[in-house]
Order: sequence, then structure tokens, then C-alpha cells
Amino acid sequence: MTLLIKGARPYGEDAVDVLVEDGVIAAIGTDLSTTGETVDAAGLVLLPGLVDLHTHLREPGREDTETVLTGSRAAALGGYTAVHAMANTDPVADTAGVVEQVWRLGSDAGLVDVVPVGAVTVGLGGERLAELGAMADSAARVRVFSDDGKCVADPALMRRALEYTKALDGVVAQHAEEPRLTVGAQMHEGERSARLGMTGWPAVAEEAIIARDVLLAEHVGARLHVCHVSTAGSVELIRWAKSRGVQVTAEVTPHHLLLTDAQAEGYDATFKVNPPLRTGEDVAALRAGLADGTVDAVATDHAPHAAEDKECEWSAARPGMLGLEQALSVVVETMVDTGLLTWREVADRMSVRPAAIGRLAGHGRPLEVGEPANLVLVDPGARAVVDPAALASKSRNSPYAGRELPARVVHTLLRGELSVRDGKVQK
Ligand SMILES: [Zn+2]
Repeated sequence: MTLLIKGARPYGEDAVDVLVEDGVIAAIGTDLSTTGETVDAAGLVLLPGLVDLHTHLREPGREDTETVLTGSRAAALGGYTAVHAMANTDPVADTAGVVEQVWRLGSDAGLVDVVPVGAVTVGLGGERLAELGAMADSAARVRVFSDDGKCVADPALMRRALEYTKALDGVVAQHAEEPRLTVGAQMHEGERSARLGMTGWPAVAEEAIIARDVLLAEHVGARLHVCHVSTAGSVELIRWAKSRGVQVTAEVTPHHLLLTDAQAEGYDATFKVNPPLRTGEDVAALRAGLADGTVDAVATDHAPHAAEDKECEWSAARPGMLGLEQALSVVVETMVDTGLLTWREVADRMSVRPAAIGRLAGHGRPLEVGEPANLVLVDPGARAVVDPAALASKSRNSPYAGRELPARVVHTLLRGELSVRDGKVQK
């Protein structure tokens, strides 16, 4: 299997030809030729395939809203070659059996590498540690553990989780939310929540857990990853912890880079999400933190939901929004077109660092001869209006509906095979 990519611009730099053979980059140069297939990539930016640390694929349990296959299609169309599937399925991914099931469904779909996340606690109950070692030793080779959707709130349990994951070369990905401070919370706590009469989700509920957890990680000498940081104060705490040498990494979602709590004014529950959309000052701090590397990665928190769980009263709606298919476009809009990130830095925040955090071999690799051909080709100049009906996801809860965004994923390659060709998924 040979494929010649003609005229692509690695990291947005000078155009070259890239020859892909047997799943790896076999040559990079000018005027390369092949007897095999040629893909015209003139003007397209070439990046390593994107890696998502935070995807909800809903299988097993809610196959009416997403399956591993439909989520894999959405991921490939978004330029991803690997996604971490969160553990809050039904049943919960808290045993070797469930993580192996998800891993097999991913390899059967064959569009992206689906990497299961294991639950930290049994049933996400927050009381007993799950079988972390068995999940790590399973065929799924779990390295990221998370109760995402719920916080590991008990500090003694969190300490033990950090000790176990350290021994497994794994990481706890914490959903930082002190539950006693967010009872009944509907949106960001501030001037707007007061005016709209909605119960607020205060920034301190996130920041208090991050402060505690970076101290615990330092004490244990373990790695800690913070999911979806959403406040300026969280960025400051992570910057402080990194300056002390704490092994902490953090992610931000596309929606927290673009949208604010002003979206709640219309009571459209599409914009209900956990943690909630914050203020413009928080958005600016998140962008600055991602630009200077304090925030390591962009992660989608892709959260498909059924229409009846979103097209209802705000207070009854489930939190979460789609993300996989528009993540790169939102990053281009908020970070590249604003001059905050170069394309090489986009590759770092959306591929290199997430792959390193998840300990994924074969992803997030440099664009060099001998490396696996996990690649994405992007048209940076294309602009399109997001139409939820056209998405590959089974759900329609996109916060970008009707919004014009830049950059289009044209081709995605998984180990040298086109998973997406000319914007169309191949399976
Ligand atoms: Zn979460």
C-alpha cells in the first residue's frame, strides 16, 4: 500500500511531497513519484493526526446517542487518529472486561485508535478503587484513569489512586468539581446567574480541587491530569504547580476557548455544560494559558446527548456538547487566526502532548521518515457554516450550529490508510 501526498505544507511551512508506504512515512522531498496512488495536497497544512484525551462515545449503554463506530467517524472527520473513550458508560468501564470490549469495538470500526479510559472508582461511586492494575494489564492497556462526570472528591481515595497509577505509569484525569459547592448548579456563578435566577457553579469549586490535587500529586510524586479547566484561577494554580515541579498537565475544551456564559441568556440548553461556560476574562486566561503551554492540550469533551435530554427546560437538560468534528476549526478561530499559536504549536497541543499524557506510542510523532503515517491534511482557508444535520455523530447537540468557522479537514490517514478522503469518511 503506497500513497504519495503531493505538495503538502508540514506545520504550515514550505510545501513538500510525502511518500507513505506500509503505514509509515517512507520519504519526504520534492518531486517524489510513485506507481501507486497520488493525493493532491497543494496548499494543505500537514499535521500529525490529532489525539483526543476526552471523548464520550456512549457505548455500551446509550447507543441511541453515539456508538464507538459513529463516534469514530466523527473523530476521523475532525482529523483525529486516536481518541480516549471516557469511562462513564453503562456498564461503567471499571473492569478489564468492559475496557477490552470498548477497545475491540474501536479496532473493529478501524477509523481511529479508540483508547479506553478506566474508571478510578467502582461504578464511579467514589468509594472503592476499581481494578486499576487489571485494566492496565488488559488488551486495552489502560493508562488514563478518570471518573469524569464525577470528581474523585475523597482526598484519601484520591491519594491512593495517585499511588496506584504512579506504579502503573498511568495518570488520574480529574474532573475537578467539589460536589458540595455545586449542588443544583446550572451555570457559571456570577452576575449573570444572579440576574437569570439560576443556581451558580462557582469557580472556587474547580479551583479548590485543583489546589488540593496538585499538592497531593506533589506529595505522592505522581502524575496528575486536570480535565477541562475553565477558569482563570485554575490556569494560575497550574502555572504555580508547574513552577514547583509538580507533574501536572491540563486540558481545555474548544467550547471554553470560544464561548462565554452569555450563551445562557437564551435558555438554549445546548449550551449547558459541566464545567459551565465562564466569563470573557476566563476565556482570555485559557487562551493565554494554552498559548504559553501552562495548559498542555485541547481535549474535546465530546458529549453526545439525545434530543429529549437537550431540547427541554434548562434545569432538566443534561450537561455536555458535541466537539470532535469542529475542535480543530475552533482552535484555528481562537488560537491560530488570532496569532496565539503557530501550526507547529497546534500539533503540539492537539497531538504531541495528548499522546504523551496518554502514553500512546505511534501517535503525536514528528513528521519524519520512519514515523507512523498517522496524519491529517487541513485546508486552512476554507470556511463553512456548521450544520448539525450533516454531522457524523448520532447526536445533534452542537454549540456551533449556524456558526461560520475556518479550516476544513480534507484527508485523515490512520497508519497510511485514508480514513477520510476529500472530507468523506471511508467506512
Ligand atoms: Zn468532566
